[in-house]
Amino acid sequence: MQSLSRSLSKINAGKHNARMIVTLGIAAIFSISGTASAEWHKDARPKMGTEVSVYFWHEEAAAGEAIVEEIFAEVDRINALMSTYVETSRISDINRDAASAPVVAGDELFELIRRSFDISVLTRGAFDITYESVGQHYDFRERQRPDVATIEAGRKLIDYRLVELDETAGTVRFLEDGVRINLGGIAKGYVVERGVEIMRSRGVENGIVTAGGDSRLLGNRGGRPWMVGIRDPRKDGQVAISVPLEDEAISTSGDYERYFEEDGVRYHHIIQPGSGLPVEGVRSATVFGPDAVLTDALSTSVFVMGVDEGLKLIGCLPDYESIVIDAESQIFYSTGLEDPQSADAGTEPAPPAPDTC
Ligand code: ADP
Ligand code: MG
Repeated sequence: MQSLSRSLSKINAGKHNARMIVTLGIAAIFSISGTASAEWHKDARPKMGTEVSVYFWHEEAAAGEAIVEEIFAEVDRINALMSTYVETSRISDINRDAASAPVVAGDELFELIRRSFDISVLTRGAFDITYESVGQHYDFRERQRPDVATIEAGRKLIDYRLVELDETAGTVRFLEDGVRINLGGIAKGYVVERGVEIMRSRGVENGIVTAGGDSRLLGNRGGRPWMVGIRDPRKDGQVAISVPLEDEAISTSGDYERYFEEDGVRYHHIIQPGSGLPVEGVRSATVFGPDAVLTDALSTSVFVMGVDEGLKLIGCLPDYESIVIDAESQIFYSTGLEDPQSADAGTEPAPPAPDTC
């Protein structure tokens, strides 16, 4: 197995403080190899159309069990508020009514929508929750996709500026009929962030909450970093790169999560706002850094922006790093990480040009 390292002097001097050793070829999606004991609490349940799992250290069995239940109850609460698959959710109310009249979102949902729009500005529209104006017409399980006319009509409605937020009233209003929003690219990051907040508030110092491709890590694993595997996008059950991290969040967006193939074309769930079609050129985009809400939204953003633009953006964000796997399975790293090939050769990756940020 090839073992690749990031220069420690660079880490200490650089913007990212995690100890970073990238190792290729480990055959586990998420390798938690901590010693099994009564105090490591572990559970995984199907939620939010994916698997949500918790893993943490707590001395007392009963208190640990209560924390597990509290976290899953929180996941259910957020899903009931923010899922477009739940007809009674507030987001479904907004999608149904906000073109006719402003809809009260409630503080929590309002704030997440507001943060989504901040990321739309940051990514110049690559991340845009109104992708749903077209996205609503895809059903990956049923192998359904919109026809050309539907895409043409819908893609004009992919524009976060068609959504008006009234901070004082706490309302959301759509400026055009047919606009839809979906928090699928950011809500799981919010869920894992909330899960870890619960752990912390109950005195847990070391643990993980994962929802699909989003993980928030608390502390470490018995004094050693957590190992988080980035899946090989074309080899089910295999890891392409494994990243040791402490006290951070990591999110991966992939074209293998929800997709179907038709005439050799892969129709997957990450949509290019300009075209209303699934993004081409990237198979997976991973982002890690301090906040899971941001790593979630940014992994989707980098996926949409592509290798060059995506890594340029991450190079401008202190504390965030990224690993992108392109359509040829080539792996690219953000400037704060060391490309294993150039590490072997003893060369440094070029820093981003100042005028790009
Ligand atoms: P997952 O963790 O479910 O794989 P990702 O973080 O990869 O989610 O984001 C994919 C989800 O983001 C899609 O299922 C969809 O709900 C939403 N999405 C798709 N395209 C965009 C986009 N351009 N901007 C914002 N959200 C998007
Ligand atoms: Mg995401």
